[in-house]
Amino acid sequence: MSRRTGAAVKTGLGERAGRMPFVVMKFGGTSVANVERIRNVARHVKREVEAGNKVAVVVSAMAGATNQLVAWVREASPLHDAREYDAVVATGEQVTAGLLAIVLQSMGITARSWQGWQVPIVTDNAHGVARIRDIPGAALRTRLEQGEVAVITGFQGIEPARNRVSTLGRGGSDTSAVALAVAVKADLCDIYTDVDGVYTTDPRIVPQAKRLPKISYEEMLEMASQGSKVLQTRSVELAMVHNMRVRVLSSFTPPEDVTPVDPATWDRIGTIICDEDEIVEQRVVSGIAYAKDEAKITLLNIADKPGIAAAVFGPLADANINVDMIVQNLSADGKSTDITFTVQGSELPRALEVLKKVAAKLGAFDIKSSNDVAKVSVIGIGMRSHAGVAAQMFKALGEKGINILAISTSEIKISVLIDAAYAELAVRTLHGLYELGKD
Ligand code: ASP
Ligand code: MG
Repeated sequence: MSRRTGAAVKTGLGERAGRMPFVVMKFGGTSVANVERIRNVARHVKREVEAGNKVAVVVSAMAGATNQLVAWVREASPLHDAREYDAVVATGEQVTAGLLAIVLQSMGITARSWQGWQVPIVTDNAHGVARIRDIPGAALRTRLEQGEVAVITGFQGIEPARNRVSTLGRGGSDTSAVALAVAVKADLCDIYTDVDGVYTTDPRIVPQAKRLPKISYEEMLEMASQGSKVLQTRSVELAMVHNMRVRVLSSFTPPEDVTPVDPATWDRIGTIICDEDEIVEQRVVSGIAYAKDEAKITLLNIADKPGIAAAVFGPLADANINVDMIVQNLSADGKSTDITFTVQGSELPRALEVLKKVAAKLGAFDIKSSNDVAKVSVIGIGMRSHAGVAAQMFKALGEKGINILAISTSEIKISVLIDAAYAELAVRTLHGLYELGKD
């Protein structure tokens, strides 16, 4: 990927001196899990309003609500109309938005709830996995300018051609928040969640893991897609394209301990996801991610001739199965070879179905598969300019007796596939190796 410049579209707080910051605050499911927590959220909102900031709030459904709605839809009929699925699952956010508006009003704050269609948040027609196309939102903007707090349902929009409610896919309210922040030209998009930032790795595995004050969009994309589940990947892509600063912070930090968004102090808590040029102190490696939901497939004794890889991976792609790492062995006899690759664990049964059909067509080959694998990745923009990161990594894993089954790399990431039983040891080893626990 080429380096982005993006300087022309920067909307830094500093460049906006003289006017109060415009903040989008997003609260996830655990932050709004009950009315008491919604009251806590309202106190965060109140702090920003009292500081004079303009505020739009985006909310998720109460924790567990979306799962329950999805379960009901499946119970009603395993094969269901996608438009009606959206009609049902979009209701979770509607409840939270209304409740938060009520609580804010009870605190004397002018607030109004907005559903996706009311803003409107215009999407395409891919119901269940819709993409935001446009947020015209003139009325919303006027109300925000007048100082009214807008509480907006995340995760949903409207598909204009058929005038139907649409949803963005699980975890989509992060994307709603970033899209809104871009649309209203907010200074900052604050994503409140149940962790107080992005860490060098999962603190449950490595207690010495450190909160990263800043991380670049590209690193965050790798972290998000490599299994650290703080933000929906699509929200980070959107933020990167528009150079929107996103901050991840905890709604469980007492509201009075968070300073209102202010040019001087906005980077003191949480993790800011921003352009890499804004990160002064760069490390070679920023974080270690891991994913356990991986499956490995090996095709043995497959013909070694042109067109075979296409014959295998074409049908997998047609079936919408994402293939991640791929390794092909040198063939000893020049006639047959082995290919190993990975898919998401949950996709394994479907992938095997597809491969059986391919095998029938191509002439027999053996298929072996395993779910007991994990992917561990080392991520850092500093790798672009530093050699030897991979060599160090392989050496450290080897010294712990951890066997590497497959490797894949990008400019800023090295991933290895290993036995699932060693995932935690690998994460701890690599976190120590790159000294990520040190100040
Ligand atoms: N409530 C939706 C979900 O659970 C959207 C979100 O929370 O981001 O997927
Ligand atoms: Mg989420």
